[in-house]
Amino acid sequence: MTTLELVAEHVASERPAADLDRAEFAAAEFLRTLGIRLDQPHLAATPGRMARAWAELLTPRPFDLTTFPNDEGYDEMVVVRDVPVRSVCEHHLLPFTGRACVGYLPDERIVGLSKLARVVEYVACRPQTQERLTKQVADWLQEHLHPRAVGVVVTAEHSCMSLRGARATGAATVTSALLGQLRDDPRSRQEFLSLSGIAG
Ligand code: ZN
Repeated sequence: MTTLELVAEHVASERPAADLDRAEFAAAEFLRTLGIRLDQPHLAATPGRMARAWAELLTPRPFDLTTFPNDEGYDEMVVVRDVPVRSVCEHHLLPFTGRACVGYLPDERIVGLSKLARVVEYVACRPQTQERLTKQVADWLQEHLHPRAVGVVVTAEHSCMSLRGARATGAATVTSALLGQLRDDPRSRQEFLSLSGIAG
């Protein structure tokens, strides 16, 4: 069993299913403590909506780990760009959103292209840091495909930085994780980074 499967099993066993009734109660309490009056008709359903929205953001959908033999012997980079990223920062529990570029250089196994997007979604559905999310996607591909290289670049805007604090609206945070040949070979690295749009 790989690290991520172990983590997934750990999450499944340690993390009870969302209790929406309690979450709604807590959301109402949270809003009241911030001075928001909930006795106004237009806010009456807000705690319930908050509970369901947060449960959705923090609950990963089941993820199928199937890979296939690389029967065609494909030996160039497989790159999927513009994979949507939406997660919540673990420091403020405020959303961060952006795009990921996920690539690998196949060896004996390949994976369905949609799975590259699903693994991003899977690791994003929890309180996260962008750095860890980026690395977890790369590690998942490494552990399941044993490819010759893995590259993940994530560009995201953090609402904890744009809506509050520094109020740096539009500031993009870029993180990358490169494994195997992309780490060792400057030409491959340059090729991947230019495909990802962060290097010319
Ligand atoms: Zn934050």
